Amino acid sequence: MTALANPQILGIETILLDLPTIRPHVLAMATMHAQTICLVRLTCSDGIVGLGEATTIGGLAYGPEAPETIKTAIDTYFAPLLAGQDATRPAAAMALVARHVVGNHFAKCAIETALLDAQGKRLGLPVSELLGGRRVDSLPVLWTLASGDTARDIAEAEQMLDTRRHDAFKLKIGKRPIEQDVAHVGAIKAALGDRASVRVDVNMAWDEPTARRGLAMLADAGCDLVEQPIIRHNRDGMARLVALGLVPVMADESLTGPASAMDFARAAAADVFAVKIEQSGGLDAARAVAQIGDAACIGLYGGTMLEGAIGTIASAHAFATFPALKWGTELFGPLLLTEEILERPLTYADFSLEVPAGPGLGIALDEDRVEHFRRDRTATQFALQGA
Ligand SMILES: [Mg+2]
Repeated sequence: MTALANPQILGIETILLDLPTIRPHVLAMATMHAQTICLVRLTCSDGIVGLGEATTIGGLAYGPEAPETIKTAIDTYFAPLLAGQDATRPAAAMALVARHVVGNHFAKCAIETALLDAQGKRLGLPVSELLGGRRVDSLPVLWTLASGDTARDIAEAEQMLDTRRHDAFKLKIGKRPIEQDVAHVGAIKAALGDRASVRVDVNMAWDEPTARRGLAMLADAGCDLVEQPIIRHNRDGMARLVALGLVPVMADESLTGPASAMDFARAAAADVFAVKIEQSGGLDAARAVAQIGDAACIGLYGGTMLEGAIGTIASAHAFATFPALKWGTELFGPLLLTEEILERPLTYADFSLEVPAGPGLGIALDEDRVEHFRRDRTATQFALQGA
């Protein structure tokens, strides 16, 4: 079969969706009240449409891309490049992108997701099977307690335990003085005891001396894992913190793809890798990060960029193929949003997220909801829908 006989990529559409969150989500670098999703629809000549998503944390507060810049990059550079390309060869299409586009990992991830969704639908296979085969059908999911209020966070955790939705919790710290932050963590751990794992994410807010002190205090407070305590590029500092052996240290912002994973693995600069499909540059790149970590005996954790349903399920398909996932995942993004954009919501039960078994990503959009939340909805549409 020649490439010309295969279905081609006809076009790529990008839509910004603004979705409200259930509560303010407080991080060291931003407080989020809503999430903006760049939805990607890749249309092929055989009528198949692949879905992708690019989402960031707090616009440009977390990394070099924002939903608006991703939309512009895809519309201006990715879409013309990919028009007419063989839709049945996602890896070849992504290699073409890699030759013409530097960086732009989040945008690349959204495009790769859409290509894989389309190809999975074409072949009748879940994306996880295209990626080498899933090892599990569901993934453990933790919850982030990010109100900043100790009593409110404990009540929220108790409710999550009661309903068997989450039994591991991550606290976002680094904004307040260290004593106050550790007291918050300690009070929550004391309330939950052995019923739950309690971890923290500092989102790079500490310098190294503060981190040394913080790690010792957090170990005493019963904290299981400390995520990215110091600035992303201080690899040697991370290695020194790991060498203290006080509490496992996880790299997140530092990991920007396979090359950084190799660098951190060689320097023994992490006990755990938070693997994210967007930050890695796509699903395939995330699998490479995981393989490098696993080969270096670094624990694996499935991270989130607080993606909506599409990015979350794309992540789930990739994570389900990982060699091990000792630290579980944080694929709770859709649970942070007040609005559903899928025809059938994702299944969260028994502390886990189900990985869909249908072709492609195994999910379908509720098009009316998508129309309702698109940013470019006109005033007339607002009036008609009574908003
Ligand atoms: Mg993090």
